[in-house]
Amino acid sequence: MFFEKIKSVNQTAQYQLTKKFIGIFLGILLVMNVFYLIAASGFVYEYVARRGNDVLYALANEKGKDLNWPVRIDSFVSEKEEDALIIETTQGDVYYSEESKDVFEALYTGKTLPFIDNLIFSHEGLYYVTTKDYGDFKAQLAINTETAAELVSGMFVISIVLNLVAIILGSWVIHKSVGKWSRKLTEMAKEITEVDVLEDTSITVPTDPIEITKVAQAFNELLEKQQNIIKRERQFITDASHDLKTPVAGIRGHVNLIKRRGESHPEIIPTSLDFIDKESARLERLTHQLLDLDQERASQSKMQLDISSLIIEVVESSHVLATHELAINVPDNLEYYGRKSDMEQIIQNVLQNAMKYSDDKSLIEVTLEETNKSLLLKVSDQGIGINKEEKQHIFERFYRVDNSRTSTVEGSGIGLAIVKKIVDSYGGSIKIEDNHPKGTIFSISLPKKR
Ligand code: ATP
Ligand code: MG
Repeated sequence: MFFEKIKSVNQTAQYQLTKKFIGIFLGILLVMNVFYLIAASGFVYEYVARRGNDVLYALANEKGKDLNWPVRIDSFVSEKEEDALIIETTQGDVYYSEESKDVFEALYTGKTLPFIDNLIFSHEGLYYVTTKDYGDFKAQLAINTETAAELVSGMFVISIVLNLVAIILGSWVIHKSVGKWSRKLTEMAKEITEVDVLEDTSITVPTDPIEITKVAQAFNELLEKQQNIIKRERQFITDASHDLKTPVAGIRGHVNLIKRRGESHPEIIPTSLDFIDKESARLERLTHQLLDLDQERASQSKMQLDISSLIIEVVESSHVLATHELAINVPDNLEYYGRKSDMEQIIQNVLQNAMKYSDDKSLIEVTLEETNKSLLLKVSDQGIGINKEEKQHIFERFYRVDNSRTSTVEGSGIGLAIVKKIVDSYGGSIKIEDNHPKGTIFSISLPKKR
């Protein structure tokens, strides 16, 4: 449990980014300091070598002058810096500057640095050591590096401290700002788990960072689509059960009537039977429509159809009860390879819409054309038309345009969904255009079998 918790913290973006930042910064710091040490050592070496050379140069001026060494020797080196000088004359006399005995003793047992053998470490400090033979005397010189080394190491310590402060501040800033984003994501995840798809809820959209804003917006769009689908399905179930209940109630009413009065008033029987016949046919149609939506279509097989006759037949029978003016423009004997029930469904649904959504007595035209690749069926009405936005949606299941006209017309919003499903299965396409002066033209193109 405890380890699980640690593991989940380790996997947060906040933890990982902060860790990465500290790692990179430490790496850079290490490289920088190595370079700094190399450069600083070079500087210290140059400095002491120059001081050594100055002393050697001063000694060279004394060549052949038979100096009073015991008095003068200290004037060549800096006592303050604890430099040391030993002079050995050709006569075999040896002169020491102040403290130089101790210094050289320490240096004889000291350690040289690799590659730079005139730098020696001893308990007296780090010394630059050089010797020179001037003919009448020999000089051994030890220059103390302490001042330069102290300066350099002082700066080194300051730079390390500054770097550490930068790391701590930097990690803190990174930790805070990444934490701000990841908290937004965590809050978003929490809101998402609490969303109730059945209600009109949405999640809060953060204003920044833009990536999180986009994810939240995309999620809300998805949620809205989902909610719309659910609403439409619920509406459909309500509509469908209403549509189913009404004919069933009517049928039962007439059956009861026949039972009670049939014997005494046999004249009511034909009227009731007519009613039962009509209503049960409606029920049958409705159940078929519902089934068609969700199941694979009837297992009728495809065959060569006389599509011209089929269209005329379906149009005329659908029009029996209607009062619209009808113009049928279908050439004779066109053939098409497909299922009869599919073709009937397409024509019926589109034609019924044309009649439902236009005024009685207005003109409806049905046209069939043939090109060498496809058949083109056009149904035009002079009705209420469909605006641009709705055109994208009317093929969705259960979708009905919401206006005063459609609300008075019966329908469940499945007709065109069925048409689209069939046309797609033939590899065809449907185009909706505005008719002039008003109304709609549905053009359905069905490719011919190759
Ligand atoms: P049904 O399932 O009984 O066919 P419906 O006619 O409402 O119900 P669809 O045929 O799928 O459903 O049509 C979807 C919507 O498209 C309709 O509700 C209507 O608003 C609009 N529509 C379809 N055809 C036309 C048309 N010719 N003119 C105007 N609006 C139309
Ligand atoms: Mg319809």
